[in-house]
Amino acid sequence: MIKQAVILAGGMGTRLQEITEKMPKGFLEIDGIPIIEQSIRKLINCGIEEIIIGTGHCSDWYDNLVKKYPIIKTVKNENYHNTSSMGTLEVCASLIENEFILLESDLIYDEIGLKVLINDARENVILASGKTYSSDEVYLDFDESNILTNVSKNVDKINNPNTELVGITKISKDILNQMVRLYNENLDKYKKIDYENVLQILAKNNPIYVHKVNHYVWAEIDDKRMFERAVNEIYPHILENEELYKIKREVLLNPGPSTTKDSVKYAQVCADICPRELEFGDLMDNIEKDLTSFGANCKEYTTIMFASSGTGADEAMISSCVPPKGKLLVVDNGSYGSRLAQIAKTYNIDTTIFKSSTYEPIDIEALEHEFQSENYDAFAIVHHETTTGLLNPVEIICPIAKKYGIITIVDAISSYGGMPMNFKEMGIDFASCTSNKHFGGMAGIGFVICNREELYKQKKWPMRNYYFNLYDQYKYFIETKQSRFTPPVQTFYALRQAIIETKVETIEKRFERFTECWNILIDAVKEIGLEMIVNEENQSHFITAILNPNVPKYDFDEFHDYMKSFGFTIYPGKLGNIGTFRIANMGDITYDEIIMFTKLLKKYMNKIGV
Ligand code: PLP
Ligand code: MG
Ligand code: MG
Repeated sequence: MIKQAVILAGGMGTRLQEITEKMPKGFLEIDGIPIIEQSIRKLINCGIEEIIIGTGHCSDWYDNLVKKYPIIKTVKNENYHNTSSMGTLEVCASLIENEFILLESDLIYDEIGLKVLINDARENVILASGKTYSSDEVYLDFDESNILTNVSKNVDKINNPNTELVGITKISKDILNQMVRLYNENLDKYKKIDYENVLQILAKNNPIYVHKVNHYVWAEIDDKRMFERAVNEIYPHILENEELYKIKREVLLNPGPSTTKDSVKYAQVCADICPRELEFGDLMDNIEKDLTSFGANCKEYTTIMFASSGTGADEAMISSCVPPKGKLLVVDNGSYGSRLAQIAKTYNIDTTIFKSSTYEPIDIEALEHEFQSENYDAFAIVHHETTTGLLNPVEIICPIAKKYGIITIVDAISSYGGMPMNFKEMGIDFASCTSNKHFGGMAGIGFVICNREELYKQKKWPMRNYYFNLYDQYKYFIETKQSRFTPPVQTFYALRQAIIETKVETIEKRFERFTECWNILIDAVKEIGLEMIVNEENQSHFITAILNPNVPKYDFDEFHDYMKSFGFTIYPGKLGNIGTFRIANMGDITYDEIIMFTKLLKKYMNKIGV
């Protein structure tokens, strides 16, 4: 699995004259977006986790980009005046851990080229195209096995000048090491050498393959004429191709599963793998660490994953984390709290229910009184009651429970990943979550984030459950780097992509996006004159439960179908006999979409006489 990309961006771009005097070439804009950012987005879409940019001329431009894309690292080639692309690659080399994609910074290209290299089974592969007539071509010769034999800008030195280097190459760690060694051992001779010429030298003893895509759409920008060609001829062609692989957009405003990005959907389309291979074990291991890190320190917490929906993660927690013969207290202030209690009863756990209003905040004093009144071993609560959008203040309640020595179990299924959380500070020992909802992966993986100290205590307990046993699942993976039972392989690849997207956006910014979408929604709700069940200050910003309008023409199914015809899916809600509909803003929702939705909401409500 390729995780890193290196972009060579040290050049001065002198052929672009005054345009690049005070700005690197990568910041040339097409359609208002710097070409380097267009390239970064494509790399992210293809599952690249880390992008190393080798800088030189006007390096601070790239350093500033790190603020926008936390997955970027920059390294400066201080000697950029006197070296060329190999000099810049050399300064990046120490950060490269494994095989990687190497790109030039002055390219625009069809994303499919990255996938061609990623899916090519061979190790070192240069992406090539047919003739472009673009000027400044680098021609490639290759033999009948597609192995590189020659690289030159000079047509006369090439046998068959029909193949051009694109500037996107897949390179193994071994070949990189050889490139760096060769360069450093011949600094005088090779000072101004380009990386492709170093590859050519190594190709004599190592198979370096050329993967030619005849009609590949791409452009390099070295001078003003090439820039014009890129803008007027190539860029429109790239956009046209992008349209061809867009997936129909359905905006899910139901309370999960939530709308996913196309990059996440496409991440499932990958090579088959037996999940007992070490490579898959590494993938699960990395996902485990990432899922933990969003809310805790990996030394203190760990994440245990199951092939299941969210309820599976709840069942794993409840049936594993209450000590044998232990007493459990559960807060029930909505459907999901009620479900936690039901699970406990199914396992014959001695359970007491603390009932609380479904729309008003919990009486914390009364709850503390309950903690004192009995010898409870464990306490369970839902963080965000998806039934109503009510956010329970677990950060206040759990530390109180801990004060009485009680194990804290939190259903964080519709909160974790959507808002900043720190499990230790919040006093949470166990928290359940899923691959979908806020993380924006595909449904199918339920997981529990566990305080290690509390988890290790379960080692000695008799198993109350089998498939969902937390400690057994943990132990098996630690010992074998394999999942106890068949994992949903493709769902894991999608989750990996969803995690990359989460790191790119950051949870803080994601919460801001949801909050802004929620603000847009509730402004419209108030303007229309509809009523929300929960007071604004107690809402999560992820779900808004709205009372059905009291007009004879209101019919949820008709309302649903109307919205669905515009690509929005909505969901009813039932609270006893109070009818509601719920609007979620979770997953890959954009401001434009929520604004569009509120316009339709106003129109529909107006039509039925609200
Ligand atoms: N808990 C909460 C708070 C939820 O919002 C949900 C789903 O909406 C669940 C549990 C159950 O998850 P699933 O339907 O994936 O089993
Ligand atoms: Mg060039
Ligand atoms: Mg160039």
